[in-house]
Amino acid sequence: MEGKDCLFCRIVDGDIPADVIYESDTVLAFRDINPQAPTHVLIIPRRHISTINDLTAEDQELVGGLFTAAKDVAQQEGLAEDGYRTVMNCGEGAGQSVFHIHLHLLGGRIMNWPPG
Ligand code: 5GP
Ligand code: ZN
Repeated sequence: MEGKDCLFCRIVDGDIPADVIYESDTVLAFRDINPQAPTHVLIIPRRHISTINDLTAEDQELVGGLFTAAKDVAQQEGLAEDGYRTVMNCGEGAGQSVFHIHLHLLGGRIMNWPPG
């Protein structure tokens, strides 16, 4: 499922609107449509990768880039000092519903542990 069949590829292509708050050559970040915290941002690679299970050694820099983008977005959103959570769900059993990898960045409230 990629290209026109993938929701997040369509957001990357500009076919579906999103509230984009950060972009680089390789990464895009936009607000989640159904936020689970006062700040809930999704950070995705522009290139389609379905799940963590599909990663290869060649993707290491790209995945690292999701985290450095998360750091920048957290700073931008004023979350860096109080703290925030990053989550990447893998597979339906973990709650993944869009099969184009994305790092959730959640903050603006106390984040409980363990997660549900
Ligand atoms: P997952 O459940 O796969 O870890 O996360 C998918 C996330 O994508 C969910 O938090 C969901 O609210 C969000 N989402 C689903 N469809 C859209 C959409 O069309 N636009 C945006 N901005 N977020 C979406
Ligand atoms: Zn995709």
